[in-house]
Amino acid sequence: KKLVSGLTKTRNNIVSNLNSIFNGFSSIDDDFYEELEEILIMSDIGVNTTEEILDNLKEQVKENKIKEPIECKELLIKNIEEQMDLGENAYDFENEKSVILMIGVNGVGKTTSIGKLASQFKNNGKKVVLAAADTFRAAAADQLKEWANRANVDIVMGAEGSDPGSVLYDAISSAKNKNADILLCDTAGRLHNKKNLMEELKKLDRIIEKEYNGCRRENFIVLDATTGQNALAQARQFKECTDITGVILTKMDGSAKGGIAIAIQSELGIPVKYIGVGEQIDDLQKFDSHQFVEALFE
Ligand code: GDP
Repeated sequence: KKLVSGLTKTRNNIVSNLNSIFNGFSSIDDDFYEELEEILIMSDIGVNTTEEILDNLKEQVKENKIKEPIECKELLIKNIEEQMDLGENAYDFENEKSVILMIGVNGVGKTTSIGKLASQFKNNGKKVVLAAADTFRAAAADQLKEWANRANVDIVMGAEGSDPGSVLYDAISSAKNKNADILLCDTAGRLHNKKNLMEELKKLDRIIEKEYNGCRRENFIVLDATTGQNALAQARQFKECTDITGVILTKMDGSAKGGIAIAIQSELGIPVKYIGVGEQIDDLQKFDSHQFVEALFE
């Protein structure tokens, strides 16, 4: 129920447009396909993905001798699901010690997402430690501290301007001492200086390899859904800097362009793990491709 409410804007956008063409066209012709293409691209599903979906759809329409536009609806939904299928989404972080690096530019909702994730893990019985390794922004650590308090988890902070690596190092010691399950590490989001960013992430990688050998590794990138294609571009750039294992797509509640979740999976091959659907601590949902497409189109 909540999934659908968080997607209301995207849903209204896509569904009303689609219904208007499924019901408005009396036959399946070039105009029909053209309008369908426009709707899919406008909802930020992505140009390449849209083309593939339409190619498949056209073939299936021919093969099955489909005549009525409304009969395309089920086929369209199935094709979208197939395009975005990566076989896995949110991971349960069952019994392994894990370190999750949180990556993303400022303002996308990184701090909020760390707080929400920490709370969710904690509620699932995990012992969580936060590392405030975005030492670049003065307010970042304080803001993260507030979320740590809200989620009732531990946080390791360094002095302002201190080395992110040393904060991570201390956080790993703390996680080991406390026998923590999950270490969530904030990072600075300086995409405009790719070389620095890459080096910093590499350095954090090395510290984890050395000090916390054998733990499960995740690098989550946080993207703001309201920025549409810009979010896709950011993901592409970060992907060049490091191995991104998952996406947290925020502000889905405020966006009519939630189709970006489909583009991220189909065009970049990175699984969306969670979506943010509000500003409160429990407004984070595990992402499931099938549920998502169902919520959007049905
Ligand atoms: P950061 O700079 O990336 O750490 O971003 P913040 O975590 O400080 O978030 C920036 C703003 O986005 C804040 O006002 C958050 O409340 C808001 N925000 C974050 N996630 C969501 C979300 O899923 N939905 C909505 N509506 N707002 C969000």
